[in-house]
Amino acid sequence: MRIIMLGAPGAGKGTQAIKIAEKYAISHISTGDIFRANIKNETELGQKAKTYIDQGLLVPDELVVDLVVDRVNKADCENGYVLDGFPRTIPQAEALDEALAKRDEAIDYAINVEVPDENIVRRMSGRRACVECGATYHVVYAPTKKENVCDTCQGTLMLRDDDKPETVQKRLNVYHEQTQPLINYYTTKGNLVEVDGTMDIEDVFGKIVEVLGE
Ligand code: ADP
Ligand code: ADP
Ligand code: ZN
Repeated sequence: MRIIMLGAPGAGKGTQAIKIAEKYAISHISTGDIFRANIKNETELGQKAKTYIDQGLLVPDELVVDLVVDRVNKADCENGYVLDGFPRTIPQAEALDEALAKRDEAIDYAINVEVPDENIVRRMSGRRACVECGATYHVVYAPTKKENVCDTCQGTLMLRDDDKPETVQKRLNVYHEQTQPLINYYTTKGNLVEVDGTMDIEDVFGKIVEVLGE
């Protein structure tokens, strides 16, 4: 099963992608996580990407397409994968489709997690990420057992720099301009799945499972 997650920043793509990957035993690939790991390790890619990410802008297509195409051709993707945060532009979607077609493969589902802009800012200001392992929590909706301590690795939690309100508004504008057109793209291809992302985390997942199958 090859799946793409669509939705605004903070809609819950990552939260659902992790649950999907676990249930269907497929790989979870988050371009945001890949960039953050590169920034932490101070790689050349990380340094380039950081200037865009900090401003709430998308990293240029040429820095992300080859990286993802190489990644989905790895052995642990043979059983399928869920792409979280890619594609984010029409050229990225086209490049992915082309690369897959060469191997007689295609995307099965593009799951759009729909959340209105008003809810997004609230979600983002409460999002907390583990500095060690990158796990995501929410102070109200997905709290850790112990305040400010990661449940899985005991790392400290922090607010991502790009989750500050002023950057969130910018990221939302970028989403509407550059990423939202993908909804039409996948509707035309016939593999769009719409899910109401304002429900509780488990209810959103339940709707996704109804479509993907038990
Ligand atoms: P969120 O989960 O809030 O949507 P991500 O963690 O997916 O954010 O991504 C963080 C940032 O990394 C984005 O704001 C963008 O700058 C960059 N990024 C991630 N994926 C892509 C992509 N496919 N194309 C361009 N930029 C990307
Ligand atoms: P994305 O990957 O789309 O940027 P995340 O999965 O990181 O979004 O979720 C953004 C924030 O909202 C996180 O703090 C997460 O714990 C929380 N969250 C995710 N899904 C829901 C939901 N259905 N209801 C309430 N909060 C949610
Ligand atoms: Zn952790």
